[in-house]
Amino acid sequence: MIIVLFGKPGGGKGTQAPLLAAALDVPTLATGDELRAAVRDGTPMGRAAKAAMERGELVPDDVILGILKDALSQPRFARGAVLDGVVRTEPQAAGLTKMLGELGRSLDAVLYFDVPDEVLVERLSGRTVCERCQTPYQGREPGTRCDKADGGVLVRRKDDEPEAVRHRLAVYERDTAPVLEWFRGHGTTVARVDAVGSVPEVTARALRALGLAS
Ligand code: AMP
Repeated sequence: MIIVLFGKPGGGKGTQAPLLAAALDVPTLATGDELRAAVRDGTPMGRAAKAAMERGELVPDDVILGILKDALSQPRFARGAVLDGVVRTEPQAAGLTKMLGELGRSLDAVLYFDVPDEVLVERLSGRTVCERCQTPYQGREPGTRCDKADGGVLVRRKDDEPEAVRHRLAVYERDTAPVLEWFRGHGTTVARVDAVGSVPEVTARALRALGLAS
């Protein structure tokens, strides 16, 4: 099963992705995580993407499509994937759909995580992430340690500063929101998930939206 997690920044995609992936028994792919790793490692892609990411801008479509192309040809994605935040513009949606078609595959669904803006701003201003594995936390101070085995230090993302958050939300409205209509118009199932609630509640709603729970 290949699903795309879609929605505004802070909507819970990064929290739900590993939980849904475990339930579906497929790996996750998050372009944000791939890009942050490239920035950390100082690769040419990371050096090119860093400034745009810190300002809350999108990185160019060809960079994203390159990441997707590399990933989808790996054997570990043969059984499917939970794609987190990987589609944020119409050219990306078209490129992913074409790439999957060439591999004889197709998207099973787009899950649209719906959250009001005031909840997003609150979540992002209280968020820290593990600098190693990127696990997000709420209400945990920077400098404390991740609960996962890597024990990485929790940091605040530069693009979670209020100004960058405002910009990311504006970019979402301008470039990303129209992509839902693109998917609907191209025959992909778009399922809305009410993403306000506890983590297990939202996971259960997402699985119901996929027809995998009652
Ligand atoms: P995220 O971790 O999903 O919030 O992504 C962090 C940042 O990485 C975004 O604000 C963008 O700058 C960049 N990014 C991640 N995925 C994409 C994408 N599909 N298209 C363009 N930029 C992206």
